Amino acid sequence: MKVCAMREVVKRYKKVVALDHFNFEIKEGEIVGLLGPNGSGKSTAINCLLGLLAFDEGEVEVFGRRVSPDDMDMKRRIGFVPQDLSFFAELSVIDNIRYFAGLYEQNNAKRDEMVREAIAFVGLEKYGKFAAKKLSGGLKRRLNIACGIAHRPEFVMFDEPTVAVDAQSRNFILEGIKEMNRNGSTVLYTTHYLDEAQELCDRIVIMDEGRNMASGTLEELIDLVDPTEAVHLVLSEPSETVLKMIADMPGVVDVAEDDGKAVILLTPPGHHLSTLLEELKKHEIYYSSLHSELPSLNDVFLKLTGKALRD
Ligand code: ADP
Ligand code: MG
Repeated sequence: MKVCAMREVVKRYKKVVALDHFNFEIKEGEIVGLLGPNGSGKSTAINCLLGLLAFDEGEVEVFGRRVSPDDMDMKRRIGFVPQDLSFFAELSVIDNIRYFAGLYEQNNAKRDEMVREAIAFVGLEKYGKFAAKKLSGGLKRRLNIACGIAHRPEFVMFDEPTVAVDAQSRNFILEGIKEMNRNGSTVLYTTHYLDEAQELCDRIVIMDEGRNMASGTLEELIDLVDPTEAVHLVLSEPSETVLKMIADMPGVVDVAEDDGKAVILLTPPGHHLSTLLEELKKHEIYYSSLHSELPSLNDVFLKLTGKALRD
C-alpha cells in the first residue's frame, strides 16, 4: 500500500526553483532515503508533504489525501522530526514530550505511557527532569526525535536528524529508526550522508536541484551507472606487452597505465578478481601492491549529478 506520493511537484521561492517536477512515493513498511546535497530540496519536499508549505504545481498525498496542517486525524498518523530543533528550551525533557504526545492523546495514563516509551526509545531516562536547554547537542537531537515520535505514528519523516551529533547519539538514532521500522512504522529519512543512506534505507532517492535523479535499492542504483571494479596494481616490470596481456584477461574492460601503476577495470564488479590474480600468476606478471575498489553510492551520485557527495 502507498503511504505517500508527490507527483510533478514544482515549488518556487521567487526565482529559486526548489522542487522541479519532483516525483516520488513510499510504500507501507519501507525506509526510504532522500539523499541530496544541501539546497537540493529535501526539506522543501517534506514541508510540502506535511502541508506546511504551499507549492506551485503538482500533486501531493499522504494516506490517500492532501494533508492540511489542522487535519488532526491525519496528523495523528504522521510523525515529523524537523531539521531545526523544535521544542521548548525552558521546559524539561518530560514536559516537552508530554506536550507533543498530548496534542494527540488526551487520556493521561496513555499519554504518560507514550512519554515513558519515547524517553526510553531515545535513551534519555537520566535526563527526564533536565531543562531542554541544558542538554548537549546530541541529546537535544534525541529529544527532538522523542517529541516527533511519542504519539506512535505509522509514518515518520526525519529531516537530517544526525547533523552535528556525536557518533554515539548518531548510532542510537539510526538503530532507533530501524527498530521503529521493525515495529511497523514507514520511514522517510533525508540526509546528505551517503553512508547513512546506504546503512539505513531499503530504497534511496537521489535528489539534486529539486529533481529525482534516480531511485532504487543500492544494488539497483549501482547497476544503473555501468559499474566496474577498479583494481590498482603496482607492477614490478611495467611494459606495453604486460598491459596487452592484462587487457585480454577475462572480465577486463580497460587497462590504463600511470607511472608504473596499472588501473584495471573489471565488469561485472565483484566477480573477476580471483581469476585475474590466477591469470597474473600464470603469465608471471609480478606486482608489489594491489587494491580493488568496488563501485559505491558515491560513484552513482557522481555519475548522475556530476557532484561528489562527501561523507
Ligand atoms: P535541503 O533541505 O535539501 O538542504 P531546501 O529544501 O532547504 O534544501 O532548499 C532548496 C532550495 O530552496 C535552496 O536553493 C534554498 O536556498 C531554497 N530555499 C529554501 N527555503 C527558502 C525560503 N524560505 N526562501 C527562499 N529560498 C528558500
Ligand atoms: Mg534541509
